[in-house]
Amino acid sequence: MKKITIAIDGYSSCGKSTMAKDLAREIGYVYVDTGAMYRAVTLYALRKKLFNADGTVRQQELEAQIPNIQITFRLNPKTGRPDTCLNGENVETSIRNMEVSSRVSPIAAIAAVRQALVAQQQDMGKQKGIVMDGRDIGTAVFPDAELKIFVTASAEIRAQRRFDELKGKGMEANFDDILKNVQERDYIDSHREVSPLRKAADAIELDNSHMSIPEQKEWLMEQFRKAVTA
Ligand code: C5P
Repeated sequence: MKKITIAIDGYSSCGKSTMAKDLAREIGYVYVDTGAMYRAVTLYALRKKLFNADGTVRQQELEAQIPNIQITFRLNPKTGRPDTCLNGENVETSIRNMEVSSRVSPIAAIAAVRQALVAQQQDMGKQKGIVMDGRDIGTAVFPDAELKIFVTASAEIRAQRRFDELKGKGMEANFDDILKNVQERDYIDSHREVSPLRKAADAIELDNSHMSIPEQKEWLMEQFRKAVTA
């Protein structure tokens, strides 16, 4: 069967990665979480104190350090999923905390950061057989992807899912803070100058507000079947 490129974009915490990971495992494709890459750069910037007191980024200093930031993925045998590594260190847990979540969107709005990460993402997808999720995969990273999905759900439902996920992992969580963060990231991600979050003209939209995970999985498999036989 021919291998294709699958781009899954959408708003924060709408279950994109769960869908994308499950599909990739089922069809034997490589899965890449591009949000994790922007989160890893954010963690690096926090550790190197590249944020000013008002939350703005010390952009020139960060840009100069981009060549020192190596992001890789390593399969976690326990979860069967790739963990994110920053300069060789497994940072999968640290990149999911609220501090990183609240700082990532300004980092992702920096053109030089996007340029470096997009080049790496395009390289990972050269052989096709890849499922990549993010904000600009169908519009900027792989505009020729054979299958493009754009996922949406209401902000309240997304915040509730994120809250449940963090609690489930035993991490600290406050619903109101999470909702505010989801709304802020939606705003910054869709209003930035470089590759703002938007649905590609040829993407299939899925509002999964009232769908269960198995229902989404089945829906996505159906789209995949159609795309490979097209
Ligand atoms: O997907 P996730 O919520 O982990 O992404 C974290 C942040 O990374 C997003 O809010 C967005 O600012 C940024 N991002 C992006 N482009 C991507 C993936 C993520 O700008 N392709």
